[in-house]
Amino acid sequence: MFSERLKRLTPYVPGEQPQDREYLKLNTNENPYPPCPGIADLLRTFDTERLRLYSDPVCGRLRERIARKHSLLKEQVFVSNGSDEALSFCFYAFFDSLYGRLLFPEYTYSFYPVYCDFYGITYERIPLDREFRVDLDGFLKKGDGSCGAIFANPNAPTGTYLALDRIVWFLENYHREKIVVIDEAYIDFGGESAAALLGQFQNLVIVRTFSKGMSLAGLRLGYTLTDKELIKALFTVKDSFNSYPADTLSQLIGEIAIEDDLYYAKIREKIIATREYFSSELERLGWFVLPSRANFVFVSKEGIPGKDIYLKLKEKGILVRHFDVEGIKDFVRITIGTRDQMARLLSVATCLFP
Ligand SMILES: *Cc1c(COP(=O)(O)O)cnc(C)c1O
Repeated sequence: MFSERLKRLTPYVPGEQPQDREYLKLNTNENPYPPCPGIADLLRTFDTERLRLYSDPVCGRLRERIARKHSLLKEQVFVSNGSDEALSFCFYAFFDSLYGRLLFPEYTYSFYPVYCDFYGITYERIPLDREFRVDLDGFLKKGDGSCGAIFANPNAPTGTYLALDRIVWFLENYHREKIVVIDEAYIDFGGESAAALLGQFQNLVIVRTFSKGMSLAGLRLGYTLTDKELIKALFTVKDSFNSYPADTLSQLIGEIAIEDDLYYAKIREKIIATREYFSSELERLGWFVLPSRANFVFVSKEGIPGKDIYLKLKEKGILVRHFDVEGIKDFVRITIGTRDQMARLLSVATCLFP
């Protein structure tokens, strides 16, 4: 017997990880560079005896270090098993159809509607503006009938970015008692974090991940920055679900990664430089490239359906992401790898799509 709940679920589909051959994987926005070197040192000397005991359920040390990095209090930080888990807890804790519909962009992280269905939250998709940016004017127009808002900055899968003054303007004009979640999964690649606004807006929630900028997608670690009372609510959700979502090793590794600003700044600069190189080369070859502040670009080539681009590149051993969704079918999303990887893609693309 299956529950009625289960029958109603439509799960999120992550980017494929095919095992049939070796691919150049540019489909899930993983970082091409290794995590900071201190992590390897930790793993070499780690005393497995520590695994006998449960992990710290409140992630005290890691939260302290994250707080220090952002000049916040530890009580303003929540640590989760990937940022997906934090997002899920935010949906559970902060959005309720009783008060209106949740607002998010028409083309955005496809987990948002999945969580809405999971928790029974009604939602409204706000079209992007003509430049494919998140349209905060559109959000405001629907503000009265909403129970809150969520958007990613930079947005996924478009890579488009909103400057901080736009976000301030939105927060000043949106309802102060309704919660606004900003998903900053890609903020490290040239954007400015809204974390600086937390003192000013108590309804602001920022969700971040170790997966992209910190090269730790396989670790499953994310964090949330917000007001103390909202953090307490996230703990209530966590402790009603799983006391130990972040294991001991993840917490230790996170503590090392969050401190190594120098290393991570270096690899981010490399990715940004490669993104600019790759974008201008693609444009030179006649492609349309949306301006991106993320570690991926959203691109199209006139006359070639996105699905064909995806399939032909896959045949050549290169994986990119195509979304079979009306309105963005012409596009593919390409993760920025190393400069050599992108040069290889450029030469393959030159042959396939002259
Ligand atoms: C990758 C991604 C996340 C999730 O990352 P985790 O690996 O779960 O931390 C969240 N939001 C967006 C927009 C993403 O692209």
